[in-house]
Amino acid sequence: MRINAAVLERAGGAQEVQELDLAPPQAGEVLVRLHASGICHSDQNAVDGTDPVPFPSVLGHEGAGVVEAIGPGVRRVAVGDHVALSWMPSCGECAECLRELPHLCSTARVPMGLGMLLDGTSRLSRDGELVHHYSFISSFAEACVLPEGCCVPIPADVPFDVAGLVGCAISTGIGAVWRTAGLRPGERVAIVGCGGVGLSALLGAVAAGAGTIVAVDTTERKLAFASELGADETVPWAGSPEATAEAVRAASGGGVDYAIEATGRPEAMLAAFLSTRARGAAVLIGIPRPDAVLPLPALSIPRMERRVLGSIYGSTYPERDFALTLELYRRGRLPLDRLITHRVPLEQVQRGLDLLLAGEAIRAVVDLRPKERR
Ligand SMILES: [Zn+2]
Ligand SMILES: [Zn+2]
Repeated sequence: MRINAAVLERAGGAQEVQELDLAPPQAGEVLVRLHASGICHSDQNAVDGTDPVPFPSVLGHEGAGVVEAIGPGVRRVAVGDHVALSWMPSCGECAECLRELPHLCSTARVPMGLGMLLDGTSRLSRDGELVHHYSFISSFAEACVLPEGCCVPIPADVPFDVAGLVGCAISTGIGAVWRTAGLRPGERVAIVGCGGVGLSALLGAVAAGAGTIVAVDTTERKLAFASELGADETVPWAGSPEATAEAVRAASGGGVDYAIEATGRPEAMLAAFLSTRARGAAVLIGIPRPDAVLPLPALSIPRMERRVLGSIYGSTYPERDFALTLELYRRGRLPLDRLITHRVPLEQVQRGLDLLLAGEAIRAVVDLRPKERR
């Protein structure tokens, strides 16, 4: 079939909407008609070359839509199902999956990095020329073909834009609190970096019954929004990790149990670490540059039993966590729709990214609904 998709030709280039060929789903694959796609900082990393991806490529990895066709052997979803898309189709068989760490599945990583589906080939092309997938999903498009394992069925009354964000930002933030940290009621939390992922973590902390929640950011507007979403205290970045951490410790009554770091900047990671109380943990979600190094004051690690926890995709088990996250949203306990501040058409994907980078948007969503349904 022919689809419109935003194609990126090279790092630093512009994403242009073009007509592509999308081949039908093969064994174990699904064709999804996309209705919404979140715009994520990871997409920008591919645009500007921070994350090298093969070109030409169709970006986007926070999609949701309706199953339009299935390949042979697909059992998880049926035609007509509403689905949220997960970029980690765990295999269930590798060493990590067997250790119940499906978000760290080692089988999917290689084809993902090559911009291919699980069998090492692409369903996207342009006049016979190969076009690459991105994180299996490529949701800056009207439709996509992807592994069955990327498709998580969702209730039909959940809005597609919210479901799309659950596929990455929301699960990454909420999961860091619920799954990586395992927050218990009353525990104190700091959120360092109040973008879409950080504020998702904040909503997760509120829903899980956190005690004092302290929001940290460089911009007043984001701190004000964090307060609206449930932060008890706000701390503007104080110029250094040490000064910022001191302010967080003061605001939290002596340090936090979990400091969730969502920027990927080493100075913010250090601030998170120094914000913790005894037995506290810095939970590092933000993706740093490949050459980044994080120096920590070593003595407090044994003396205070301070910890550093890495968290990718919120340690999420998509089949379990997407459903329960969306159920809490439906009951009004997780106001996830408040994270969506901007909507753009497919032609304006880059404008959405620019709004995100400028700190204007918390989350911008590409509206991909078929024209007659808008
Ligand atoms: Zn993402
Ligand atoms: Zn696996």
